[in-house]
Amino acid sequence: MENGFERQQSRNCRIGVFFFVCLISNFLICSIMLGTGQSQAVDVLVLGGGPAGLSAGMHLADAHIPSVVLTGPEPGGLLTHAAKVENWPGILAESGIAIMQRLIEQVQAHGAQLVYDSAVRLDLTQRPFVIETADSGIFTANALIIALGSSPRKLNIPGEATYWGKGVSSCALCDAFAYVDREVVVVGGGDSAVDQAIHLADYARKVTVFVRSKDMRAKPVRIRELLKKVTIVYNKQMLEVIGNGQQVTGIKIKDRHSGVEEIFPTDGVFLAIGHEPNTWLIKDAITLSHDGHILADFETMQTNIPGVFAAGDIVAGSYRQVPVAVGDAIKAAGKAIDFIRYQDAA
Ligand code: NAP
Repeated sequence: MENGFERQQSRNCRIGVFFFVCLISNFLICSIMLGTGQSQAVDVLVLGGGPAGLSAGMHLADAHIPSVVLTGPEPGGLLTHAAKVENWPGILAESGIAIMQRLIEQVQAHGAQLVYDSAVRLDLTQRPFVIETADSGIFTANALIIALGSSPRKLNIPGEATYWGKGVSSCALCDAFAYVDREVVVVGGGDSAVDQAIHLADYARKVTVFVRSKDMRAKPVRIRELLKKVTIVYNKQMLEVIGNGQQVTGIKIKDRHSGVEEIFPTDGVFLAIGHEPNTWLIKDAITLSHDGHILADFETMQTNIPGVFAAGDIVAGSYRQVPVAVGDAIKAAGKAIDFIRYQDAA
C-alpha cells in the first residue's frame, strides 16, 4: 500500500507530465504567433481554464466558431485542489485533478484551441476586443467569455505572510504530504474546510478545525463524515500565526464568547475561509457587484458590455457549484455564438 508521501509523489508526477505536455503544445503555438509577428484574430476568446472556461471552449468548438481558451497559470482551475469531488453528475467520487485532466482531453478532442498563458491587459472599449497575453502575443476577439474563477481568501493577520509556504497554506492536496504524523489546524467552516480536513486526516496525527461561528456552512452529510476523523472547535477567531522564524509553531486564537485568547500549538495552518473573485484584470472595465463579482444577466450571462459574457465563480450570485458553473458557461457560449452570428443583422 502507498504511504502518504508516495501518494503525493505519484500525484506530483502525474501533474508534472500533464503540464509538460501542456507547455510543449503552448510553445509551438506561441512560436508560430511570435514568428509571424501578428496578432491572432478569433471570433470568441475565453478567459479561464477551469470547468467553466473549458466547457465554454468545447461548446464553441462544437459549433465551429474560431475561438481560443486562455487557460491561465493553472489549467483545470481550483478544482484541481479538490481531493474528492462528489457532486459532478455521473461520478460517485473522484479527485479534481483526474476530472480536470479528462475534461482537458475531452475539450481538445472536440477541437478547442487551448493556450496555456495568461491575459495581462484588456481593451474592451471597442470591438474587436484586444487581449494582450504574457507570452503569446495579442489576440483580438469579437466576443469574450470571462471565466476567471476565484482564489482562496487570506486572513491578513500577523504572521500569515511571514509563514506562507512555511506552515501556512490554502491547499491541503498540495501540501498534506509534509505533515505525516504531525499536528495541523484548518480554519473555516465551509465545504472547502471539510475537504481539506478530511484529506489532511489521512496524513496528520491530529487535525483540528476552527470555525469562527457556532455552525459550519458545509453540507450536513459532509460534517458527519468529518466528525469521524477530526475535532471541530466552534466560535474561535484566529488572530495570529506564530512561528520560530523558520516554521509555524502555533496560532493565537480568541474565543468569541468569552474573549479569552490562547496559543494553540500546531505544525501547520490550512486556510479554507472562502474565495475572492479574480477580477483584477477587468475591474475597471466591467460593472462589478459591491463585493467585487461580475454583474451578469443570468438568462444570457451578458455583462454590461455587449459581446462580453461571464460564467462561473466570478459572477455575482453564482451558486458556486461546479455543475452550475459549467451550465452557465454553456449558456454564455451559446449567447456568444448568437452574438457573433446575428450582431450585425440586428
Ligand atoms: P464558504 O462556503 O463561503 O465558507 C467559508 C467559510 O469560511 C465559512 O465557514 C466562513 O464563516 C469562514 N470564514 C470566512 N471568513 C473568515 C474569517 N475571516 N475567519 C474565519 N472564518 C472565516 O466557502 P468554501 O468552503 O470555499 O465554499 C465555496 C463554495 O464552493 C460553496 O458553495 C461550497 O458548497 C462549494 N464547494 C463545494 C465542495 C464540494 O461539494 N465538494 C467543495 C468545496 C467547495 P462564516 O460562516 O462565519 O461566515
